[in-house]
Amino acid sequence: MTISSDWIAIEQKYYAQTVRRQPVVIVRGEGTRVWDADGKEYLDFVAGWAVNNLGHSHPVVTQAIVEQAGTLLQTSNQFYTVPQLQLAEILIENSCLDQVFFGNSGAEANEGALKLARRYGKLHRDGAYEVITAFNSFHGRTMATLAATGQPAYQEAFTPLLPGFVHVDFNDVEAIMNATTDRTAAVFLEPVQGEGGVNIPADDYLSRVREWCDEKGLLLILDEIQTGMGRLGSLFGYQEFGVEPDVITLAKGLGYGTPIGAFLSKEYCMALVPGDHGSTFGGNALTTAAAYAGTKFLIENDIPGHARAMGDHLQRRLNELKSRFSFVKDVRGKGLLVAMEFESDIAGQLLTHANAGGLLLNAVKPNAIRFMPPLNVTAEEIDQAMSLLEDALGKI
Ligand SMILES: *Cc1c(COP(=O)(O)O)cnc(C)c1O
Repeated sequence: MTISSDWIAIEQKYYAQTVRRQPVVIVRGEGTRVWDADGKEYLDFVAGWAVNNLGHSHPVVTQAIVEQAGTLLQTSNQFYTVPQLQLAEILIENSCLDQVFFGNSGAEANEGALKLARRYGKLHRDGAYEVITAFNSFHGRTMATLAATGQPAYQEAFTPLLPGFVHVDFNDVEAIMNATTDRTAAVFLEPVQGEGGVNIPADDYLSRVREWCDEKGLLLILDEIQTGMGRLGSLFGYQEFGVEPDVITLAKGLGYGTPIGAFLSKEYCMALVPGDHGSTFGGNALTTAAAYAGTKFLIENDIPGHARAMGDHLQRRLNELKSRFSFVKDVRGKGLLVAMEFESDIAGQLLTHANAGGLLLNAVKPNAIRFMPPLNVTAEEIDQAMSLLEDALGKI
């Protein structure tokens, strides 16, 4: 049997070294638990990076994949397939948007939304093409989404960047107003910044941005790749803030572990026409069957409501730990997107202790850890994770 350390050596020899990984080789998952190549069990509070919203190997998703794999995998978008249309219908009927396009990842979903914004600017805003985005945002790794991402550390190695992006402080409506010109086509924001450190804006931020966009005729595009599909306690993050965006993008939790992305638009601003956009694998029968089965289960069982309750429980427990460990500076979150911030850069060290104890976490910043467990996590699993975290904190 090949043990974890052997696999890690193989990775170092053969795999492009573009990611800093934790030394954990995951071979199997069930619910909120995973097992490594040495048979060790972990509680998984990373969940595929806010992807496995129904946990690992959920029977509803597994069955949909197995059945679809034995029926039809892929046809090309030259033809209609049923799962793609079922998924389109359930997403549109449960959102404020009117039409959807499916791709394969988050970055690809954002690329499509950005193309839509440019096309909209050409048609309706006299050629306006600029998109206002926020500092500390994260929108993906492709050339356009990298330019949109307001974090110089990701960008510097790849200049010159695609032009047309203006960055302003997050949670600052006046900054958006001041940055708006005749060239502005859209405002592009995460409802809660995920990779930026779980940054939650003021309650009225998005509604004030919405008013400004209405006044100036700008599109409001929300990147819901991390916040969508129940993560914040509602099916879509915008529902938490009482606004209706013109366009949203989804990926991560949409596929329950299978690779899929989407952008959804109101009909009035769906500026793309036949020939403007496409994807060979986008909307293929396999991933849309998994996404449809998972989404149907998510909605019918009010998993977003459960996520809200579990998020409150998690934050309560984290605040208890905060009162006991003086180097914990802040606990913040919404639904099951939660962070704990420290006075100094101890997140890496903490992850090493958590791994050893059997708890998988994400270091979202050198001084902060993020919790993004499956949305159907139980209170008992949260309590177990908190006692493992307490042990790890005690070793700092
Ligand atoms: C993860 C993420 C992306 C990029 O998605 P990929 O599937 O990795 O391309 C974009 N925006 C947000 C908010 C994300 O969290």
